[in-house]
Amino acid sequence: MDALRIRGLTVVCGTELKCRGCGTCCTVYETININVSDVFNIAAYLGISPKAFFDRYCRRMEDGKGGATFVLDVSGGCRFRQDGRCAIYPVRPDTCAMHPFDFPGINIARHAKAEVSADEYRSCFIRDMPDDLIIVPDLERMVGSLILAMVKEMYLARNGGDFDEQAAAASHSSGMAQAKNPRMREIMHRKLLNEMIRNAPVDPETNRPALTAEEITQIYSHVRARLKPKSEP
Ligand code: SF4
Ligand code: SF4
Repeated sequence: MDALRIRGLTVVCGTELKCRGCGTCCTVYETININVSDVFNIAAYLGISPKAFFDRYCRRMEDGKGGATFVLDVSGGCRFRQDGRCAIYPVRPDTCAMHPFDFPGINIARHAKAEVSADEYRSCFIRDMPDDLIIVPDLERMVGSLILAMVKEMYLARNGGDFDEQAAAASHSSGMAQAKNPRMREIMHRKLLNEMIRNAPVDPETNRPALTAEEITQIYSHVRARLKPKSEP
């Protein structure tokens, strides 16, 4: 498929840009957002129970809206960063897998570069990216992640911020099934596109949206078609 160019910028998907894996992002944050299925998938990978994994590596955190959420506790550096690698790479949380394009919005390279000007990001690949890129997150992974986040919200609404393994197991099964459901995925694609239009990148020089809703819709369709598995119609 031909490259799409808008306003003189080339549209790419974040999956086409390779993070160097320098590990800075595994050390600079205090917490990483996780969903219930992350707890089960990582626990199975490590060969421990979901409850043991939660108690050892995760915690409940106030969400600032009167509720609570679950996070991986990475204060002081993520404990899964070992020998310069992620020890749970195949099952790492969506937030890590999509990083640094894990926000439901479109990035413009020259804006993203300005955000990694701090010295701690000196080895970040973003600094070396060409300026003339429009970067779209991995839409398919993000859709799956949003479905699992919605299921987590429902779990938390029912069970509060405590991790109850039995209730969480039902939530995990339901989340994995919904994340594979084509109808649910289509609904979430529509929600994600609307979210991206709401989060339109703002030009720091003019303080105005750098892309229109029509341009974002065109970009979304282009990248989605590019990501679509070959077996799909
Ligand atoms: S889970 Fe892996 S990728 Fe995520 S912060 Fe920890 S070491 Fe880094
Ligand atoms: S600082 Fe940049 S290159 Fe290093 S892990 Fe984070 S996103 Fe990747």
